[in-house]
Amino acid sequence: MTTDIRTIQKKMRALGVKTDENKSFAQLTTFGVGGRIALTVYPDTPSKCAKTLKYLRKNAVKTVTVGRGSNILASDDDFDGVAVVTTAMNGVKIRGKRAEVLAGTSTKYLARLLCQRGLCKGEFLACLPATVGGAVVTNAGCFGQDMAGILKSVKALKDGRVVRIGADECKLGKRTSVFCDRPDWTVLSLSLQFEQSTPQRVADTVGYMQRQKASRQPLNGRSAGCVLYHESVAVSRLIDEAGLKGFRIGGAEVSHKHAGFVLNVDKATALDIYLLIQHIRKTLWERFGLFAKTEVRLVGFGNDDFFTERKE
Ligand SMILES: Cc1cc2nc3c(=O)[nH]c(=O)nc-3n(C[C@H](O)[C@H](O)[C@H](O)COP(=O)(O)OP(=O)(O)OC[C@H]3O[C@@H](n4cnc5c(N)ncnc54)[C@H](O)[C@@H]3O)c2cc1C
Repeated sequence: MTTDIRTIQKKMRALGVKTDENKSFAQLTTFGVGGRIALTVYPDTPSKCAKTLKYLRKNAVKTVTVGRGSNILASDDDFDGVAVVTTAMNGVKIRGKRAEVLAGTSTKYLARLLCQRGLCKGEFLACLPATVGGAVVTNAGCFGQDMAGILKSVKALKDGRVVRIGADECKLGKRTSVFCDRPDWTVLSLSLQFEQSTPQRVADTVGYMQRQKASRQPLNGRSAGCVLYHESVAVSRLIDEAGLKGFRIGGAEVSHKHAGFVLNVDKATALDIYLLIQHIRKTLWERFGLFAKTEVRLVGFGNDDFFTERKE
């Protein structure tokens, strides 16, 4: 690291930001894999988060923002930088049908509040093991709902300044947003818009979605949900058709229950999971001519992707 850890810790103490030298990505991500992290920091307000990131970036320290870690595959190598974990930065203010939500807020917690108020269009949030900040990055969603359907604007640290970015400028698409291309932009809070319904109807919809999800997906396993996507094709159906259910590399396996999920079934390494994802993509390309994109965000794998030379 360009700046030594003690100097960074001193600065974090001055900012009132908690730090930890003993974390690994295996502890911070739902896959349960990934190397040790030189320093992990936990800002608990947008202002502290912005000051932390500005300081780190000014000093050319490598950073990665982490929410619940449910869409991150981090390599087995040690990370010589700082992981900025947002989960301590949480809070929700609801006025009428509008909610201001801090980026580290749990989607499930927000969904409970919406249910109490009878606000609909955000029922899918109850199905994500995520933070709202992480959810906006890949426009997370299910059952026909997604972040694009509720987002009004984002307050973000963009090129060293805290700015409000309108939903249009966030360019939410199928499992993508402007934040995928600009990992140096950090979401601090979101303004979300819902529609009025009743607590009973919202609870019924949430219950239906959760039952459907539990019956179709391996929710108890260690995964990051569906690892691949395509704008117009249901990738998991083709993975199934290619006979890949149960296919294994090391401790990583394509789920028998849902072919879109890769599971850490037996002490997988990050490399096992990475290679399995690449094997699935290669198979889909060879069998169906389908170029599936990686939904899970890769940390520390460099640019050795099998497909990087293909221009989309
Ligand atoms: C069992 C299971 C089921 C799932 N089901 C679904 C589903 O139905 N639909 C779906 O879309 N996804 C699903 N996922 C994937 C995952 O939950 C979502 O992608 C989720 O939105 C990730 O949120 P997170 O807070 O965990 O983000 P993380 O995994 O922590 O981060 C994801 C990416 O966002 C970046 N990031 C995180 N926070 C910020 C921030 N504040 N500012 C800028 N960048 C940030 C990270 O650097 C990383 O690149 C599932 C995952 C699991 C494990």
